[in-house]
Amino acid sequence: MILAQLPRFHLSILTKSPSSSLSSPHFNLLNHRSNPPVSLARTLFSFAPKSNLSTVEPIPLPVSDSSDLDEAPVEISLDKLFIPPETDISGDDPSSLTARVLKGSNIVLSKYARDAQVAQADYVKSSVRTEDCPADGLPEFALVGRSNVGKSSLLNSLVRRKRLALTSKKPGKTQCINHFRINDNWYLVDLPGYGYASAPHELKQDWNKFTKDYFLNRSTLVSVFLLVDASIPPKQIDLDYASWLGQNQVPMTMVFTKCDKRKKKKNGGKRPEENIKEFQDLIQGFFEATPPWIMTSSVTNQGRDEILLHMAQLRNYWLKH
Ligand code: GDP
Repeated sequence: MILAQLPRFHLSILTKSPSSSLSSPHFNLLNHRSNPPVSLARTLFSFAPKSNLSTVEPIPLPVSDSSDLDEAPVEISLDKLFIPPETDISGDDPSSLTARVLKGSNIVLSKYARDAQVAQADYVKSSVRTEDCPADGLPEFALVGRSNVGKSSLLNSLVRRKRLALTSKKPGKTQCINHFRINDNWYLVDLPGYGYASAPHELKQDWNKFTKDYFLNRSTLVSVFLLVDASIPPKQIDLDYASWLGQNQVPMTMVFTKCDKRKKKKNGGKRPEENIKEFQDLIQGFFEATPPWIMTSSVTNQGRDEILLHMAQLRNYWLKH
């Protein structure tokens, strides 16, 4: 069980001082029952967590499988946690809250986090328009990111199949919306990578147009998973993408990839945690509340089970509402 694993190094949640009021994080999910128009179907949930936590006290949190003991602790304040709706943290003391945060993320577990295992994964189809995507109403999560960010590797790691994502890399499919059905009851969707330096201008425009159309009009899209390479400093194109999703209130989870790549500070490299913090500082103005984020590596499988649990809780909540 993931949460029972002992932390190798510490991430601290710092609670706000007693005098400061907690902000009210908001987050968005799409509500599939209230069919189109999709803009109306987006339901904004408000949630104002109250907590017993009142002292500025670092709390050990499981973050990574790294055994690198020179890690500097990362600090998360309470208002930067992602707290799913219908989730109450008011009775939590520091250690019980620690146990409810998914390792290497800001995501609190809710009662909806169940049935996360992937037993079956099948390629279904590749579509060039939103209207051509599967019409069976099953909930879906879209993976998107700059080309080379590690999207195929992550998809393969999530479904524990070495080559499933190769399907989306076949000629003619790299610019498509590729649907993979999981356990016959939800979809993982592989979207075209963006930011190919060599792609012709018209092609870039086209991708932009059809992926944006998909984000805005796909009524069964529960959340976009935006992949960002944590081994390098933030790139403008990723910041632009996150900003666009935030401004259009498209539900988003940030997946930081390649977290196993740990450049040494003495060589001028920044650690994944530092790049992640910088990325978040740069995008915070685009969101009403901190979006969920999670650290991953397809080399060590860090974050794999955690992403699946997070998808499960979003999916089960979506199905119920
Ligand atoms: P895509 O273009 O986004 O689908 O990216 P790929 O999954 O094909 O990966 C691009 C490159 O990054 C390949 O050389 C992968 O081996 C490498 N890569 C992908 N994920 C990771 C990771 O988690 N850690 C490391 N160190 N390398 C990775």
